[in-house]
This record gives sequence, C-alpha cells and structure tokens, in this order.
Amino acid sequence: MRRIPVLYIEGDGVGSEITPVMIDVLSCAVDRSYGGDVVLDFEEVLAGGKAERLTGDSLPASTLERIRQVGLAIKGPLMTPVGKGRRSLNVALRQELDLYVCQRPVRHFTGVPSPVKHPELVDMVVFRENTEDIYAGIEWASGSEDVKKVIGFLTDEMGVHAIRFPHTSAIGVKPVSIEGSKRLIRAAIDYAIANGRKVVTLVHKGNIMKFTEGGFRSWGYELAREEYGAYEKEGRTYIPCEGGDLLLDDCICDAFLQNILLKPQNYSVVATLNLNGDYVSDALAAEVGGIGIAPGANINYETGMAVFEATHGIAPDIAGQDIVNPLSLVLSGEMLLRHIGLVEAADRVLSSVERTIACGCVTRDFYNLLDDREGARCLGTKAFGALLVENL
Ligand code: NAD
Repeated sequence: MRRIPVLYIEGDGVGSEITPVMIDVLSCAVDRSYGGDVVLDFEEVLAGGKAERLTGDSLPASTLERIRQVGLAIKGPLMTPVGKGRRSLNVALRQELDLYVCQRPVRHFTGVPSPVKHPELVDMVVFRENTEDIYAGIEWASGSEDVKKVIGFLTDEMGVHAIRFPHTSAIGVKPVSIEGSKRLIRAAIDYAIANGRKVVTLVHKGNIMKFTEGGFRSWGYELAREEYGAYEKEGRTYIPCEGGDLLLDDCICDAFLQNILLKPQNYSVVATLNLNGDYVSDALAAEVGGIGIAPGANINYETGMAVFEATHGIAPDIAGQDIVNPLSLVLSGEMLLRHIGLVEAADRVLSSVERTIACGCVTRDFYNLLDDREGARCLGTKAFGALLVENL
C-alpha cells in the first residue's frame, strides 16, 4: 500500500466548512480509484486565526518546516488585514517556500451560471509569477522617515523629478528579474507542451513599464529561442513541437482583459507577472462562475513543492451558515491529485463535479444566479459535499 502524506491548513472563516468536504471527496476518490492500494494521509498544520489562538503565532515556524519536509499541502483561505497590520500569510507562504508559479486553470462546467454568452469558450491555464513584482512587499508609508530617505535618494542622487507630490507620496518598489521571469515562462511553456496546448501568451504592460514588464516580455522570447529552438514565421514566434508547433505571442494587459471577454477562444496558456495575474485570474474566474469554483496552486516546478488553495477569501459574510460553495477547494484538490500522478482519481473528481452540477444541484451562490430554476436544487455545503462523494 502507498501512503501519501498531505498537509492541510483549515483556513479562516468558511475554511472549517469547505476543508472537510475537500478531504472527504479526495479520500473517497482515491479509495474508489485504487481500491486501498493508495491512501492519502491528511495531517493538519496550523496557520491563520487557529494558529494564533493555539500558538500565539499566525504562521508558526513548525508549519513552514513541515511543508518543506513533506512538499505537498492544501489550504483554505486566510484572513489578511487591509492597509495595516501583518503581511498577507498567503504571500508569506509563497515567498518563504519560493512557490514561484501561481497556477489557475479556468474552464466552464455545463450548468454553472455565467454573465457571458459563451462561457464554454473559456479554457485557459494562467501562470502568474508569485514571488516578485510589487507583491515583494517593499514599500514605505507616506510621511515616514524611511520614505523621506527614499524620495531624497531618488531626487538627489538618481535625478528623478517625476514624483508629483514628493511630500506626501508613499513609495513601492517593483522588482522583476530575468531568472524570476524565465523560470515562470519556462513552466508555462513546459505545461503547454506536456498538455498539447498550442498557444502561450505573455501578458504584460511593457508599453508603460518598459524595463520591468517590457523585460518580462523580451526575456520570454529570448528563453523560447535559447531553450526551445523557437523560430520566426511571418512575424510570429513558434516553438517546434510534436503534433503542431506552439505559438508564443504576447498581449498588453488592458487589451487582454478586453479580449478575454470578446474572443477567449484565442487564448490557452497565459504567463504573466504577479499583479496582472491577480486581476486576470479573477476576471477569468468571473466568466465561468466566479471565485466559488476557481481552483489554484502555488508550485515550485524545480523542487516540486506545491501548496494548493481555494482562491477566494474567508467570506466572513456567509461563514458558519452552511451555504459556502466548496468547489474552489475541491477542484484545487483535483489539481493536487493530478500533480502527484493520481490521474484516475483526479478525473473521477472532475466527473463528479460535472455530474453533480449537470443534474441541477448547486450551492446558494450559483442557485441565486440561475435564470431558470426549474429542476434545480439549492443545497447546503454539507449536503452538496455528500452528493459530490456519492457521484464519484
Ligand atoms: P472573499 O472572497 O472572502 O468574499 C467576496 C465575496 O464572495 C463575498 O460576498 C463572499 O461571500 C463570496 N464568496 C467567496 N467565496 C465564496 C464561496 N466559496 N462560496 C460562495 N460565496 C463566496 O473576499 P474579500 O471579502 O475581499 O476578503 C475577505 C478576507 O479574505 C480578507 O481578509 C482577505 O484578505 C482574505 N482573502 C484571502 C485569500 C486567500 O487566502 N487566498 C484570498 C482572497 C481574500
């Protein structure tokens, strides 16, 4: 028998409602697929409010240590204070563990209400850079002694005169490196090749931020030429591939946000920087049913270490009411199964989600958006989870 340790962080707010559903669905999918030959050993590690209550520390060193040892974890959402207080635990986890890819597949499941006419045309996998950009957390508050030093340095030594209100500006720094960009774009290209996808699009704002976002774009094409033997044909860049060459192109982020509404079928694998990736992922998620069904993973493709996560927040407005949609975390679990090679169990989870929604059984967030509720059933989180297990 193969026992696979899987760490989990329950999460704040709705975390304690969606985590048990995810554990039940994954355990049962593995059991039905491999008949006891493979077992997932779920082990809780602490972070967030629960960690603070039990240990006085919202991200104990023992949690990071255990994730480093095991290399595989799945987490519920964690609360982050806005504008003050400690840094985001999610960002801390990604940076501490150097999980440089934030991977978000976006596809539509038949029956999920959507604000667009053809959500089925959306089928993309977003690779968002996870460790650099303005998310590096290098910023100084308006009026602080530190910001005065930084602004003094910029104006006196660097000849910067473009800070419109130097006495009241806060300052943030946006580091974007060659290594950081190339390893992210490499992961996106490798994924496209391994999964038979035919377009990789670099999304950037290089027309304005020429050295950071423009650098990301240039380094992407450079990588394709140096490591994948890319060639030019009629002004476009292709990577030689079995079964048809892979197109590498790029798009400015604002145009991209229009295009995913107007012609989503033109995109397949998307590689982008941290902040663009944040906006793009949520916009795409909205097209196929919203954050309640959007899965995600944070992966270091060089070490294999991975933390899968629900992409929504702690949803404090609905916590404790048995109405939260558990699909974001369940589908993150499906990604986890695929990542560790349990493809049959992952496929089983996907079919169960398809079957459950197709028969009209949904949680309240989807039910409220249905145009036609004839034959539909609004289920609580626990009942919906039980049906997912039944349909495995
Ligand atoms: P949110 O995602 O918690 O909620 C936004 C809206 O979506 C709310 O109305 C909520 O009820 C609804 N919603 C979210 N998930 C749902 C689900 N699974 N089913 C049904 N409805 C759902 O975002 P927010 O309100 O901006 O943030 C609340 C807190 O969560 C903040 O502290 C924020 O920092 C944190 N947060 C954490 C993560 C993470 O851990 N990855 C991500 C985003 C926000």
